[in-house]
Amino acid sequence: MRWLTATKSRIALGILLSASAGLGLFLGFTAFGRQINGYAYDFLFRLDQPKPWTPDAIVLALDEKTLTEYGGLRGMRVALADGLEYIAGAHPKAVAIDLILADEGEERSDARLETAFSKTPNLILPADLLPDRSGWEEPIQRFRKYAVQVGHVHADLDKYDSVSRALPLMKAAGKVRHWALAFEAFHVVHGGEIEESESDLRVGNFTVPAGIRDCFEASGCGAESWRTVRIRYIPQSMTMPQISVAELKHNPALASRFAGKVVFAGVTAQTAVRDRWMTPYSNGESLPGIEIHANAYETLSRGSFLTDVPLTAVLVTCLLLAAMAGLPYAWTAIWPANAMALLSVLASQAIPAIAFHYSIVWEYLPGTLTAVLAAVSAAAWRHIIDRRRLQNTEQERSRYQRAMQFVTHEMRTPLTAIQGSSELISRYATMPEAKRKQMAELINSESKRLAKMIETFLSVERLSAGQMEMKRERFSLPGVVERCVQRATPVAERKQIRIMQEEIPQVDLLGDVELMEYAIYNLLTNAVKYSPRETEVTVSCRQDRDRLQLSVRDQGIGMTKKEVSRIFEKFYRTKKAEETGELGTGIGLSIVEQIVTQHGGSIHVESEPGRGSEFTLELKRAL
Ligand code: ADP
Repeated sequence: MRWLTATKSRIALGILLSASAGLGLFLGFTAFGRQINGYAYDFLFRLDQPKPWTPDAIVLALDEKTLTEYGGLRGMRVALADGLEYIAGAHPKAVAIDLILADEGEERSDARLETAFSKTPNLILPADLLPDRSGWEEPIQRFRKYAVQVGHVHADLDKYDSVSRALPLMKAAGKVRHWALAFEAFHVVHGGEIEESESDLRVGNFTVPAGIRDCFEASGCGAESWRTVRIRYIPQSMTMPQISVAELKHNPALASRFAGKVVFAGVTAQTAVRDRWMTPYSNGESLPGIEIHANAYETLSRGSFLTDVPLTAVLVTCLLLAAMAGLPYAWTAIWPANAMALLSVLASQAIPAIAFHYSIVWEYLPGTLTAVLAAVSAAAWRHIIDRRRLQNTEQERSRYQRAMQFVTHEMRTPLTAIQGSSELISRYATMPEAKRKQMAELINSESKRLAKMIETFLSVERLSAGQMEMKRERFSLPGVVERCVQRATPVAERKQIRIMQEEIPQVDLLGDVELMEYAIYNLLTNAVKYSPRETEVTVSCRQDRDRLQLSVRDQGIGMTKKEVSRIFEKFYRTKKAEETGELGTGIGLSIVEQIVTQHGGSIHVESEPGRGSEFTLELKRAL
């Protein structure tokens, strides 16, 4: 029984731990979970920064000073034209522009810009999504004709916290699709065709691991985005090289810094553009869109890609973390179990950090939640189990004490009789012979009763310790039943209970006849004890090949299912049984069960409160 409840509670622990893993995974991928994952990603991003290098990209900035010198936003096309002319001599590798050129401007400035474009090799112009995302704002033909490619400049921000973490390499609107500006720059520099496959993109000898379905949920990309890569922003110890048109105007020698570089030209003036976004480093300060493009270019050209861990790996890890945090509570002492739980929580923190170091993005929340939930629920489970165990031992102890009180009380009666009688015999030498004989008989019968009582209690201990020697001899079943009924009849008659004995088949059993008699007699006296006056107790036996079912049925107080499940425990008595006033120890049935099992049989009980009980011994007949 105890084994069964232990198994049941272990199954409960298993369910708790799996549920922790399930809940951890589920919550880890909800909107709230993704936001936390985003913060954890940014934290690791700041923690584990790559070593600085010399960037390939450089920003040609239209900054505040340029804006002032060229008369505000309206002068931007002229400023850009000037900038391009200054750097043309340095022969940059490619020039990507992030200034929307979808409308005609003033003729004079458009003409200036056209001339500048005509002198710029490897020019990439921008296209932006229309606000309703139905199409593109493409550069007008006048400029378009000088561009080798057109790239999109649409930033996809994280849906949950508007941080720019990833770049959608491809965007589609209407029937037209565009590669990202930074990717087009990469394409132009490396030449060749862009080859698309299910799992990646190839440009010349370079492979970009951006699968067709890679659209990180967290980056909030819409249905029109495919093939996303995370931008590995340059470390905080580095700055993206940046020279403004105004600076070039005052010091044209600075143009040499653009030699052999990939130029990203665009507005950086804080006052002029809304094209500024938060990045994992931001800490409240935004970065101009043009710098984000330059960073994306660096990611591509250095091949420093951050890839996602497969979901199955997260799932397996969550299960392992749950097992590590929770299972020790079922097997070891509290302190080692607590230590393992702590270790599991620490592991859940370390895994994303180690993975990040190897350029793998491991969602933070599922593992952490799983480890914490598993640890808390397993500790609570252990607490409940320990408390229940303590309650059980306390209950058992108090039942044992009550039984002991009864036993000592029972023993005192025969002892008093023996003491009294023996004293009388020794004191009165002239006692009549008949009286002396009567007293001697009383002493004899009372000491026998005492011996039997002691024998019973010793039997319990020896049987449960497995030390009881059981005889293995053949005996007849009807004989045993007959003797038991005879012995029980006087007890039954006191309550006017009739013991009905149906026909018992003439079969033999193999075992210990005295123990078997003890068992059957116990069932009979229980039936009598726990039945009201003037009822019937029936003994019957069914035979089925080599098996026998011997039943004792009464019309007594009965028991609930819960009570039935406990009556074979030592010292257990039901409340109703105690209320009847019948004396008992709660030991008898535990001995009966042991006797029957030692005979290779079993005992079953059917009972209903107020209607009666039927105890059935299932036994093997001797062949
Ligand atoms: P005891 O009779 O000395 O209390 P047992 O081990 O023989 O101890 O029985 C354990 C308990 O099972 C009883 O106290 C009683 O509550 C319950 N019980 C046993 N037999 C019956 C029965 N025939 N009808 C109702 N309750 C019973």
